[in-house]
Amino acid sequence: MQHFDLLVIGAGSGGVRASRIAANLGAKVAVAEERYLGGTCVNVGCVPKKLFVYASHFSDLYSQARGFGWSVANPQLSWATLRESKDREIERLNGVYANLLDNAGVTLLEGHARLLGDKRVMVGAEEVSADRIIIAVGGWPFVPEFPGREHVIDSNDVFFLDELPDEIVIVGGGYIAAEFAGIFNGLGVKTHLVYRGDLFLRGFDDDIRLFMAEQMRAKGIHVHFNADVTSIDLDDAGIRNVTLNNAEVLTAGQVMYATGRRPLLDNLGLEATKVSLTAKGTIEVDDDFATREPGVYAIGDVVGRAELTPVALAEGMALARNLFGEAGQSVNYDLIPTAVFTQPNIGTVGLGEAAARERFGEIAVYQSSFKPMQLSLTDSNERCLIKVIVDVASDKVLGCHMVGPEAGEIIQGLAVAMTAGATKADFDRTIGVHPTLAEEFVTLREAVR
Ligand code: FAD
Ligand code: NDP
Repeated sequence: MQHFDLLVIGAGSGGVRASRIAANLGAKVAVAEERYLGGTCVNVGCVPKKLFVYASHFSDLYSQARGFGWSVANPQLSWATLRESKDREIERLNGVYANLLDNAGVTLLEGHARLLGDKRVMVGAEEVSADRIIIAVGGWPFVPEFPGREHVIDSNDVFFLDELPDEIVIVGGGYIAAEFAGIFNGLGVKTHLVYRGDLFLRGFDDDIRLFMAEQMRAKGIHVHFNADVTSIDLDDAGIRNVTLNNAEVLTAGQVMYATGRRPLLDNLGLEATKVSLTAKGTIEVDDDFATREPGVYAIGDVVGRAELTPVALAEGMALARNLFGEAGQSVNYDLIPTAVFTQPNIGTVGLGEAAARERFGEIAVYQSSFKPMQLSLTDSNERCLIKVIVDVASDKVLGCHMVGPEAGEIIQGLAVAMTAGATKADFDRTIGVHPTLAEEFVTLREAVR
């Protein structure tokens, strides 16, 4: 039986990072992977999604180009070309991940891993043992039960459609639903977004949520709030008739569910261990990512602290260093910058207004909304929103929020400033880059609230 210092289950964002760092620190490491190298992010997540976002944005660019004097004759999309180009790029990245593991000296064990207890694991047909085990198995799309559930696709399927539908219904109000509403709309598909609550993107600043809903509607997305699907029928022509709880019936070639993800614990063998779950069904870990089973740890989406690739990477790195390098590494979850790659993007770091007021009491809110210069010669009605929230007592910037082109790129630099403890006075004495959107963050002078 092969024995390792460390066995990592799952070669996704967190698992690959943890195994490479541990191997670089001298440990004998194996990683078990049953499906694809690079995990969700590379294969059915961040990467193909962002490629689709770029693809869908061309329709805006073509129409905006006319305002700048270009004549653009009847641009057409080939979905098959886009999908195949994307597949080739993902295949290339799978190879890059294989090389990364190989170069670090990590043994790749291909197959499903099941814990047997007592530090033994079955990977495919081979039993191996390890002094330490990291569970980094990620998550899987969750679709609720309802009549007609078999007629929907999820975020795993959406990347491999044979053809684009003329019309799509997207159900959910989180990152994935918002991003794919923008993708399909930009690709020319009539798009409905159906969300059960008053306003989507729960957890984001309320002004950002409202503003984003307006931007989506202005772009032609049919946004249905306070609506949920009660049933779906498929007719002989392949059309899905989607009945909502407000009695409205939508018709579409595809219905995509983006109603969250569940931890991927299927046949993992947790019952052979003392590993426990939280009320949310994620694996329970302490501050050092240790489960209740000695020598067994968990990181990434399966612990559900923030389901983002950079968080899984940070957790993988901290844990591997703690186990095989210098102890005392931890992950700071306070200021996680994040972007929703809607069109325009949302970029955000720190607290929203309501959360900041609740935690800090007296806050000052600086806010500005305008038409971006790059759209000035066009007939686009897209606008951007910039918002900065400051603690009045300490002058510390508590939150930076933005809806606008490249907000994802802009927010990264602001996250550095906030991590370094920047105050509003620091923002004010920073010289702007002119003419840019981002300079607005250093020129906001009058608090609106
Ligand atoms: P994963 O990357 O999911 O990796 C888990 C791996 O474990 C998988 O390869 C799986 O096959 C393998 N595995 C599972 N069970 C077993 C088993 N028993 N045996 C062997 N192997 C097993 N995050 C961002 O930061 N930015 C984005 O833009 C972004 N976009 C996203 C878009 C979509 C559509 C989705 C679904 C997610 C997106 N995310 C994004 C989230 C991001 O993909 C995840 O947070 C990240 O992949 C989590 O990494 P992980 O290592 O925990 O798990
Ligand atoms: P989210 O948890 O972000 O959103 C799930 C949505 O589905 C919520 O609006 C929720 O509503 C709704 N919902 C949940 N259950 C039901 C139900 N039974 N019926 C109807 N609606 C329901 O999950 P996603 O699937 O969008 O994405 C998963 C995670 O992946 C994200 O949270 C994020 O961490 C990560 N991700 C990150 C991206 C990025 O960084 N750009 C992009 C894509 C994903 P309610 O709010 O009312 O509970």
